[in-house]
Amino acid sequence: MPYICGMNSTVEKSDIRALNKEQLKDWFIAHGEQAFRAQQVYEWLWQKSVKSFDDMTNISLATRTHLNEHFVINHIKVDEMQRSTDGTIKNGVKLHDGRIVESVLIPTEKRITACISSQVGCSLDCTFCATARLKRMRYLNPDEIYDQVVAIKQQGDEFFNRPLTNIVFMGMGEPLLNYNNVLAAIDKITHDEGLGMSAKRITVSTVGVCKMIKKLADDEVKFNLAVSLHSAINEKRSKLMPINDSNPLEDLAEALKYWYSKTKRKVTYEYVVWKGINDQKEDAEALAKFCMHVPSKVNLIEYNPIDDGPYQQAAPEAIEMYQRALRARGVISKVRRSRGKDIDAACGQLANKS
Ligand code: SAH
Repeated sequence: MPYICGMNSTVEKSDIRALNKEQLKDWFIAHGEQAFRAQQVYEWLWQKSVKSFDDMTNISLATRTHLNEHFVINHIKVDEMQRSTDGTIKNGVKLHDGRIVESVLIPTEKRITACISSQVGCSLDCTFCATARLKRMRYLNPDEIYDQVVAIKQQGDEFFNRPLTNIVFMGMGEPLLNYNNVLAAIDKITHDEGLGMSAKRITVSTVGVCKMIKKLADDEVKFNLAVSLHSAINEKRSKLMPINDSNPLEDLAEALKYWYSKTKRKVTYEYVVWKGINDQKEDAEALAKFCMHVPSKVNLIEYNPIDDGPYQQAAPEAIEMYQRALRARGVISKVRRSRGKDIDAACGQLANKS
């Protein structure tokens, strides 16, 4: 005999954190609860990150029961944690629907950085990136993005006894293709009623979706922008990053000029130099020239092999050549050694292998 549900249990509960503060307040009023309680519940949900209504100790049992009847608190679970010999921690994060994303804690002398994901998988096909091998399954919700930061903040306290200092959207996915949710998450991360972090400590990294870069500028965001460039020659860049076909360098330059004119914030270019692909003088010159469009700096990232495909890290001389070309035009560049390689936690290695 099938069990026939009672009326109440057929009502699907919704995720309470999908509501903003106003909506939560409206719900409280519409359901005969006191409006100011909404504020308290909101703080429990975001600032204190509780995972159960029962933990909301200053809320009456009746109200908690009421909330329990209507809502769930979806939350992430760090399913697996791996630690690298260099201290880097990679989290396999399970979402409420069982899907997995990865996020990384990167400790350096001065910083604890959270590298977080914005999508499950990725729809772009950058040929050198492991995440691109997964197809994009879905966008992360604001709370799922926020929770990754909270988890890493807690790990910073627990394992390093140090506060989280920086956040980079350089995990899985393309943040600007999940624009609204990424911005909503950043809003919570920077808000006093959330984590109260400074937007200046947050960097969103993009393949260069021009329309969305302009939208960021129009929305007057206060965080930093990084662009994964990898080549300043259209033909080459299109091969490495097919997004370049629809968002070529000319359009990218125009979007970045717009960004700079509105925000007055320097752009960071991320750039890997590969042997036999972009390690010639003309490549370095093209990058240095591209850097003249707007005030910028360059991170020369060490390549993290993802398989035995055609890509290999270029020789140190090639990196030096790039640095010389950039210096000659007054552009600051830094060589970024990779972290957490032994646990596949480095840039471009996030692919739910473990
Ligand atoms: N989609 C966004 C966010 C991902 S950030 C973006 O592309 O910017 C991940 C960074 O790591 C990007 O700069 C990407 O180009 C770089 N990356 C990808 N695969 C890599 C690899 N195998 N080795 C080094 N860097 C890689």
